[in-house]
Amino acid sequence: MKITAVKGIGLRCACEPIHDALSTSRARQALLVVVETDAGLCGVGEAFTYGAPLAAAKAVVEEQLAPRLVGRDPLQISEAWDAMHWGTLASGRRGITLGAVSGVDIALWDLRGKAEHKPVSALLGGTRDRIPSYASGGFYAPGKDTDALRRELEGYMRMGYRDAKIKIGRTPRLPGSPLCALGPAEDAVTPDEDWKRVEAAREAVDGWLAVDTNASWDADTALQNAPELVRLGVSRLEEPIPFEDLEGFARLRRACPQLLVMGCETQQGEAGFSAMLDAGALDIVQPDAGWAGGITECVRIGRAAAAHGCGVSLHCFGSAVLFAASLHLCAALPGLEPLESEENPNPLKTALTRVPFEADGHMNWLVPQGDGLGIELDPAALETFAV
Ligand SMILES: [Mg+2]
Repeated sequence: MKITAVKGIGLRCACEPIHDALSTSRARQALLVVVETDAGLCGVGEAFTYGAPLAAAKAVVEEQLAPRLVGRDPLQISEAWDAMHWGTLASGRRGITLGAVSGVDIALWDLRGKAEHKPVSALLGGTRDRIPSYASGGFYAPGKDTDALRRELEGYMRMGYRDAKIKIGRTPRLPGSPLCALGPAEDAVTPDEDWKRVEAAREAVDGWLAVDTNASWDADTALQNAPELVRLGVSRLEEPIPFEDLEGFARLRRACPQLLVMGCETQQGEAGFSAMLDAGALDIVQPDAGWAGGITECVRIGRAAAAHGCGVSLHCFGSAVLFAASLHLCAALPGLEPLESEENPNPLKTALTRVPFEADGHMNWLVPQGDGLGIELDPAALETFAV
């Protein structure tokens, strides 16, 4: 079997605005990657883009990666990964290029599963058939006050979740906030209002509560705020500072061992995560399969985390394809921590497949058992969302 084509399909749909500490989403988007073969089989993956132009990511897939893949045996996945890595070394290793590599890698795993009539989880030696998850939400939005945040989280508990994560840090009045560099911030709050949001969330959530600043603090701010987070009952702090500040992360962990430090969805590649692990920066790593290097690289990141005694909680904020890939990967990862289960309205996740994902009463997601990723995309939905 030989690869005959590698294509990108951009998907987008408008959404009600939501904000984290720094950014605003008014649309959801995904770049699907399709690998076609001369045997008529094809695999589908997803490159995560963090809002980067879909056209740029698609061009990387089709103009930079595809020529290195056409004619290859799609079942030789690590050889294909190496060809993409070494073939883009100067311009890649990071950013949308590694995101594009990730999307191709996921498509190759899907293809191999279809060729061998096995779920990707089985190819990875996975033993779990259901994946624990936490509710990821608690964004800022127009008109959304503390009571609305509380009601949102109470709703997740009624669905069967125990653990949840909210956004904090959209506080331009905090000295040194990078929000100031971005101009006026809609729906921003004062630091006091932000603490009230944390209190409301803590009251609503039954299990652990995580807060995510999306790297909007610096190390001093994180060190100053950590004791208050602990006092309010927060047990996990996600990506408090930019991942380059390894020493800041390590200082935070030493100063506040009660708080589990997690990160970083924006980090990529095994080398990037290993540098953080070696520096003692993290308790839990949070790679994104569509960004950090695909299933192949996330297996390596999982191994590195296990060697450092750290857990793995996959970041997942994309379409149904990325969610499916994350479930299969979680089936096999060591030190598995609950998967991010995004609860913002996202039709690219909930309306793209013919059969919806299934969870049990405690929001453990069932790993799809069909061949490959085990999902069937709905052609009508693809047409609706295609750009
Ligand atoms: Mg995050």
